[in-house]
Amino acid sequence: MQVYADNAATTKLSKKALDAMLPVLTDIYGNPSSLHTVGQTAKEYLEKAREDVARAINADSKEIYFTSGGSEADNQALRTGAYLGAKKGKRHIISTKFEHHAVLHTLDALKKEAFDVTLVDVHETGVVTVEDIRNAVTEDTCLVTVMMANNEIGTIQPIKEIAEFCKEKGIYFHTDAVQAVGHIPVDVKDLGVDMLSISAHKFHGPKGVGVLYVRKGIPLISIIEGGAQERGKRAGTENLAGIVGMAAAISEAVENLENNMKKLYGLRDALIDGLKGIERCRINGSLEHHLPGTLNMCFEGIEGESLLLLLDAKGINASSGSACTSGSLDPSHVLLAIGVPVEIAHGSLRLSLSEENNIEQMQHVINSVKEVVTYLRSISPVWEKIKAEEE
Ligand SMILES: *Cc1c(COP(=O)(O)O)cnc(C)c1O
Repeated sequence: MQVYADNAATTKLSKKALDAMLPVLTDIYGNPSSLHTVGQTAKEYLEKAREDVARAINADSKEIYFTSGGSEADNQALRTGAYLGAKKGKRHIISTKFEHHAVLHTLDALKKEAFDVTLVDVHETGVVTVEDIRNAVTEDTCLVTVMMANNEIGTIQPIKEIAEFCKEKGIYFHTDAVQAVGHIPVDVKDLGVDMLSISAHKFHGPKGVGVLYVRKGIPLISIIEGGAQERGKRAGTENLAGIVGMAAAISEAVENLENNMKKLYGLRDALIDGLKGIERCRINGSLEHHLPGTLNMCFEGIEGESLLLLLDAKGINASSGSACTSGSLDPSHVLLAIGVPVEIAHGSLRLSLSEENNIEQMQHVINSVKEVVTYLRSISPVWEKIKAEEE
């Protein structure tokens, strides 16, 4: 049985998204910047997609900027917040310890440009509080960026409350909502955020395309110089097929949101029920504010990499954390941030589901994880030591 359970890394392109893209890849080949009919037809597709995306998050279409994905959206949002702050003489940025590397590494780059960065703690729950942000704010703070849902442990942050606080203080607020959009309700007006990042391939759209939402009135700063596309804020001929595919995928995801969420909660709870009885295992991050389809667990005494390979041999595709850190032997910065001890963090497993999964697959996952964990522990000196210490 094949079980794809790595949807936080990427998802399968939906049929609707593919069908929307195909004619654009063949017949709608004009450049939206061209003034002739072929170009203007492409332009119509572009603007229709912009309206569809805007509707899905309750934005105005003028607030939607197409990018090459979530990483670029994060880069541009952070540089915009930082440089707008610097113009007013403010150079302090607040974020959290468990952001995606697209945020953390951009913050590292900004430090080299003489910005100060504070990364607040996310506690054992994997949730930051407004209080944490309040305590970190100084006179010099110009930007706060906190992800809406964490890509490794699935915890959801109090974005609306943080946005409200930042507004009061006159501080720009950005959220990386890549794991949230298409999975839980996201309404930019209700949230009150200034900037928000989206990536199509996390909700069954194509790879290499995303969105930066920028609230009206914020002068977005360009990080790619060239032509006047995206109202002069993001140069480069538009990836029209990708953009149209993303619009179809986000509309589909939002339309089916409630049903999908219900289904995913059911599948995830079945996994939890089946796996929680395993000795010395833990669920990472509080389940109270949590994405429906993401489950992260640690099993003491084993290596996550071995677990993944043996599960793969049983047809199960999972992850030990983010795709970006896998392949390295460092434990996940997210698990360390929520206080999981290094040796336990090594034995992590992330299962991230989509509505295409079913309950039979969950049973296969449960049986396989139990079997593989038992086998790996039977040959693990670390496990032997843990058991010896118990006696
Ligand atoms: C996947 C992901 C990104 C990066 O998006 P890309 O489109 O792959 O560049 C950023 N942030 C989070 C939380 C993600 O899960």
